[in-house]
Amino acid sequence: MSILTSENKRPTKRSAGRPLPELIFGDLWEFDPAPETADPKLKPRYDLFIGGRFVAPVSGKYFDSINPANETKLAEIAQANAADVDAAYAAAQKGFAVWSKLPGKERAKYIYRLARLLQDRAREFAVAETMDGGKPIKESRDFDVPMAAAHFFYHAGWADKLEYVAPGRKVAPLGVVGQVIPWNFPLLMMAWKLAPALAMGNTIVIKPAETTSVTALKFAEIVQDAGFPAGVVNIVTGFGDTGAAVLNHPAAVKVAFTGSTEVGKIIMRSLAGTDKKMTMELGGKAANIVFDDAPLDQAVEGIVNGIFFNQGHVCCAGSRLLVHEPVAAAVLAKLKTRIRTLRVGDPLDKNTDIGAINSREQLTRIEKLVASGVKEGADMFQPACKLPTKGYYFRPTVFSGVSMSHRIAREEIFGPVLSVLTFRTLDEAVEKANNTAYGLSAGVWTDKGSRILKMSTELKAGVVWANTYNKFDPTSPFGGYKESGFGREGGRQGLLDYCKLV
Ligand code: NAP
Ligand code: MG
Repeated sequence: MSILTSENKRPTKRSAGRPLPELIFGDLWEFDPAPETADPKLKPRYDLFIGGRFVAPVSGKYFDSINPANETKLAEIAQANAADVDAAYAAAQKGFAVWSKLPGKERAKYIYRLARLLQDRAREFAVAETMDGGKPIKESRDFDVPMAAAHFFYHAGWADKLEYVAPGRKVAPLGVVGQVIPWNFPLLMMAWKLAPALAMGNTIVIKPAETTSVTALKFAEIVQDAGFPAGVVNIVTGFGDTGAAVLNHPAAVKVAFTGSTEVGKIIMRSLAGTDKKMTMELGGKAANIVFDDAPLDQAVEGIVNGIFFNQGHVCCAGSRLLVHEPVAAAVLAKLKTRIRTLRVGDPLDKNTDIGAINSREQLTRIEKLVASGVKEGADMFQPACKLPTKGYYFRPTVFSGVSMSHRIAREEIFGPVLSVLTFRTLDEAVEKANNTAYGLSAGVWTDKGSRILKMSTELKAGVVWANTYNKFDPTSPFGGYKESGFGREGGRQGLLDYCKLV
């Protein structure tokens, strides 16, 4: 299909630094494959992890975890029922009696070991994460796994300094916490949940998402290798009903949920009136706002990272681009040129920018919302890249001419789809950015520090990035406003959600 000659097929030192004609960029490039080949060391079947051991489910049932890149079966995963969840809580209660009594500096050693052991097996975990969830290997290798380790390192550091979590007050662990996590950052979301809870002295029953349980169960091997007392970390796998059993269990003194706003609301309704503590990390529809004085090329990189990172399966994705009118045409043109260079395809290829959509279900949801954008009259742009014939893939998509009432401007698409809107004044930008049920994150691109400060005060979002996007650090609290949830993960604030003040 290539109309390129063998001479101009690959970038050479000669071409670096000078602009290339648009033809050479993107759509027509062909690259040799560069697959990551490390062995993910998967077992054919994973049981539940309860009381420090892998145990077959009482239910006797298993379901398949598949690789969304090629629709092949990766492993069988146990499907926990209510009796399995009961067993996990019984183990966690026993574990609490031991774990909560350990001095903080002893707990720190265990948590530190988790970080080190994860680092030792980083490559294997990155490959497993990519095969199970579809994200590009360069992201699981350079972001998910190192960030997960960083969360354990950071919280190991806190475990013997808990008197500084709430200065002037004493803190105590809560007991057994029930946690449920989504499929977009499976290992990392697990680290966000486990690390602060463990540092505080709580024990855990956690349920990963049904499409991405593999790295959680591989992590159970690390918990064993780190020599944790039995029952401190318990992992039960299954579908939504297993999640509901975990969060509604009478032995759970606190529940922490990351997932969709829709399911978050169901959980809040069912827990209303109980005395369980709750934190909710839910959906988002963030505004990424570019002013006319912004460094436009950097902004375009930030826009691309903001929406196409992890196929757009990111709760804080910059899915609404708000551009200042004077630069709107220029930004859109640069953006389209840049998008033509993105490589969509095999997630295990080290050069892939956009991997597979996590599941067929999610692909269908993205397709439906994109069709609604076309139907409602927005202008759609997609590069002409080839997609693999097997697996779940979606082209990076940009809608311009979007108005605030369009579904694609209001609903979380959770895919590689950007909606572009424009604004004339700062007040209009703030008004449009805040005109959403969500409030998880936002981005501001401008040369003026005063404008950054003004915007970050006005924007109703848990995180506001300035002249960057999607930057994370375990020291920095993350969480939402409005329907994006409540509670914080990371930093001192994240620890406060896992303790009681005595
Ligand atoms: P989801 O459908 O809400 O599922 C999240 C988790 O809840 C999964 O483990 C799911 O199990 C489980 N679940 C489903 N129904 C349940 C119920 N009735 N009771 C208890 N648990 C239940 O969300 P998702 O599609 O996996 O994840 C995408 C969503 O997560 C997006 O909206 C995204 O914005 C949000 N998210 C938010 C943050 C944040 O920090 N704010 C971070 C990441 C993702 P199954 O997998 O078996 O369905
Ligand atoms: Mg899978």
